[in-house]
Amino acid sequence: MTQLVDNLADLTALRDRDALDIALVSAVHDMLQPNSTAICRVVGDAGSERWRTCAQLLQGQSQPTCDSAWADLDSLPTLSDKPLRQQATKTHQILQTEGAPSLTLFPLKGNLDSIGVLEITTEQPLTAELKRLVSGVLRLYLNFQALLDYGERDALTELLNRKTFDGAFLKATLEQNRADLAEEQAPEDRRSHAPAGTYWLVMIDIDHFKHVNDNFGHLIGDEVLLLLARLMRSCFRFHDQLYRFGGEEFVVLMRCNGEDEAAAVLERLRATTEAYQFPQVGTITISIGFSEVKTGDTPSAAFERADKAVYHAKGHGRNQVCSHAALIASGDLVEQAANVGDMELF
Ligand code: GH3
Ligand code: MG
Ligand code: MG
Repeated sequence: MTQLVDNLADLTALRDRDALDIALVSAVHDMLQPNSTAICRVVGDAGSERWRTCAQLLQGQSQPTCDSAWADLDSLPTLSDKPLRQQATKTHQILQTEGAPSLTLFPLKGNLDSIGVLEITTEQPLTAELKRLVSGVLRLYLNFQALLDYGERDALTELLNRKTFDGAFLKATLEQNRADLAEEQAPEDRRSHAPAGTYWLVMIDIDHFKHVNDNFGHLIGDEVLLLLARLMRSCFRFHDQLYRFGGEEFVVLMRCNGEDEAAAVLERLRATTEAYQFPQVGTITISIGFSEVKTGDTPSAAFERADKAVYHAKGHGRNQVCSHAALIASGDLVEQAANVGDMELF
């Protein structure tokens, strides 16, 4: 009991979703001593969804493992590979298999991108009392997660707000640095384990949005923002992180295999937006700037580069995608030497 209270206290002290998953899996593991405990979530677009293991602890293991947040979708099991999980998320029922070992699945329903299951494997089927206990801990976890969402998501579009950006950027650059180091030390090994690609920072700004508000009013303007957020969700992949930074400015932290791939994804978003018929307003366009996140980058330095690329797009006809590196290479932008302004002093 004391252990459970300790575990719950640890759980609610966290502000990081991944750490929260790990804490839940560890708490259940300490409570039941099962063969394995895992949180698995549905990722990917409709029709091609997969199961991503977000945290898993096996008996005898001290540290939970997970599939990389940037895992290649094709490397993950499909929905129908795990029919019992699928049934639990569809019916919102706790499911259990008889026999030994027994599998118990608790459905998880959080915000838009967190449909999944808590999957526990035990030698004997869990008793009704233990299932109630796990359900109680799960309710606490889900309520806490909803509280985090409330603070971290933009109320209008449900995209992430800027509060969480610096943490995500730091995590991405740390992972990038680790991957660079691993490649230096064992190039063969890296190829088989780490997801391919590097991180890219993208800024998206609606063109002449003031006209939309002036001509149609703020409410219709808000509807445009909401619909654009939906178009963004449909154009980016499940692991790309989408933010509304305020007003009509959106930011994406994405992982891509090189500049051509990044430019192609962004060009598709630009073209999709241009072709979309917004109710009452008709069509709008967006300007996009992007830059690769470099080893040792700070958020402000990466922003400055992406911002310069957007500024260039705005000054050269809008409705276009500009790469900071390409603008430097063509001489349209001049790279500034690193100076004190690039450093985070506070
Ligand atoms: P540009 O093509 O140069 O980006 O022009 P713009 O009109 O989009 O840019 P500007 O920065 O001059 O204006 C942005 C406008 O966005 C001003 C404000 O009316 C509008 N805006 C900012 N936040 C919101 C919001 O939350 N809802 C709505 N409806 N409008 C907003
Ligand atoms: Mg703007
Ligand atoms: Mg604008």
